[in-house]
Amino acid sequence: MGAELESRLAGVREGIADAASAAGRSVDELTLIVVTKFHPASLVRELHGLGVTDVGENRHPEARDKVEATADLGLTWHFIGQLQTNKAKQVARYADAVHSIDRPELVSALSSETRTIDGFVQINLTADAGRGGTSDADLEVIVERVLDAPGIVLRGVMAVAPLDADPRAAFATVRRASERVQKLAPNAQALSMGMSHDYREAILEGATHLRIGTAITGNRPV
Ligand SMILES: *Cc1c(COP(=O)(O)O)cnc(C)c1O
Repeated sequence: MGAELESRLAGVREGIADAASAAGRSVDELTLIVVTKFHPASLVRELHGLGVTDVGENRHPEARDKVEATADLGLTWHFIGQLQTNKAKQVARYADAVHSIDRPELVSALSSETRTIDGFVQINLTADAGRGGTSDADLEVIVERVLDAPGIVLRGVMAVAPLDADPRAAFATVRRASERVQKLAPNAQALSMGMSHDYREAILEGATHLRIGTAITGNRPV
């Protein structure tokens, strides 16, 4: 596992550097979030040993357990999955960032007077409301809610490119949504987009936060 993990991580880092250079951007603008869902805390520990600082998880309580098991490492934890309102308060206690903010009730549940997290508003790029993410029409409404919520610093927007569409075009849509967000929140410039199979296109469209799982970890255990 060790050597393979190291070489897959190196391959992705090279791919990121390559795409950044093609886009005329610096890799310093890019945060690599390694998605470790379904993998054990020991893998997170190995990744830390290879210089990984940011980790992504999509389910509570799996995320909570891994945060506890690796608390000595000082990692930055990103919650990237669809989040039920009744679990949000717990997630807000351990996550450093939540990328899947998509409705007003979730904003209220994540908001806190005692702990601050980074927030990304997720945009749904499909016609299927069950996929998570706000509809285009509701974008400004959610953004205003986050801006009014104590304990959430709006960093930007997040999206998953639909499987059946051209990723570059999908990411261009996200970039345009981000421009709308920045009219309300000039500092919320982050773009969380790009996964194992489309991070190059995401970087070319301005991604700042890449969420990459299998290209680094190998296939997820079932
Ligand atoms: C699993 C997941 C990823 C990583 O996907 P890979 O294809 O394994 O890179 C990124 N974002 C979200 C929201 C995910 O659930």
